[in-house]
Amino acid sequence: MDFSLADILAARRVIRGVADQTPFVPSPFMSKVAGQDFLLKLENMQPVGAFKLRGAVNAVMSLPGDAPGVTCCSTGNHGRGVAYAARERGMKAVICMSRLVPQAKVDGIRALGADVRIVGMSQDEAMHESRRLCAAEGLVEISPFDDPKVIAGQGTIALEMLGARPDLATILVPLSGGGLAAGVAVAAKAINPKIRVIGITMDRGAAMHASLRAGHPVEVPEHASLADSLGGGIGLANRLSFPLCRDHLDDVVLVTEEEIRDAMQVLYYEDRIVAEGASVVGLAAVLTGKVSPDGPAGTIVTGRNLDMALFTRIMAGEDAVIGDLRVRGRCYGA
Ligand SMILES: *Cc1c(COP(=O)(O)O)cnc(C)c1O
Repeated sequence: MDFSLADILAARRVIRGVADQTPFVPSPFMSKVAGQDFLLKLENMQPVGAFKLRGAVNAVMSLPGDAPGVTCCSTGNHGRGVAYAARERGMKAVICMSRLVPQAKVDGIRALGADVRIVGMSQDEAMHESRRLCAAEGLVEISPFDDPKVIAGQGTIALEMLGARPDLATILVPLSGGGLAAGVAVAAKAINPKIRVIGITMDRGAAMHASLRAGHPVEVPEHASLADSLGGGIGLANRLSFPLCRDHLDDVVLVTEEEIRDAMQVLYYEDRIVAEGASVVGLAAVLTGKVSPDGPAGTIVTGRNLDMALFTRIMAGEDAVIGDLRVRGRCYGA
């Protein structure tokens, strides 16, 4: 399938006025660590608290007006974006999620008037329910990552980053299904073929990483994580986000739960930003020295939709328990 900068430029026109242009701000602390300008693209400030609004709005706005409604599976933020976009268009939305999705995300989606279905213990089970609804009720399914409209919407982030800082040498992108990384990499490399785009994800259940190594989409077991938004597979029948990530990402780097915890603390205590675990993996990669930028670098702070009780525990240095996962506490600066 052809996918190019033109799709992303078109998406920018479609989403204007619904998804916001977000600030792209320097982090003095991270710049010191990196030895280079290090900037944060604050997608946590989108109306639904995550960048996924961009792709969801582009996909929903592109549907014919007589579409009976939309459905999707989601780790939370895509569902919230789709619910928001569907409400804007006066369309019905049914969001399918697994029991691994934090309650704060489920509540946020219900508050937008969407119908929520909680099914099973994995993103794959939620995806099967969403497929069933398409067949049974004629709803249009919007994939969280493997859809050209969604990828184009996410790619608009890179247009804004490079518009503000044409000298960016490295972009660090949180990576799960790869819709964000695919869109950002296609846009960034069309503008500057020399730029490095690196996907970052957690070391347990990293489906895109495993698939890139295997040379084709593979399934991996799903685990509880501080970066819950990075959970889930890429789909064995992946058509677009896998080949785009394979062809355009320079590298994929993995970080541990403890490294995510430390990066969440850095973002909060140094930059005063509240963000979910998935949002800080780019910081974690630089804090650990796994990535050493050789010029101005930027990462995307992808979302803020996290359980505040969990967040305050982590900031206080207490142990965090998510499902069967326990992440040891650490006091910041200790
Ligand atoms: C979805 C999501 C990601 C990863 O995006 P993909 O397109 O699935 O790779 C990262 N961070 C947050 C907060 C998300 O919601």
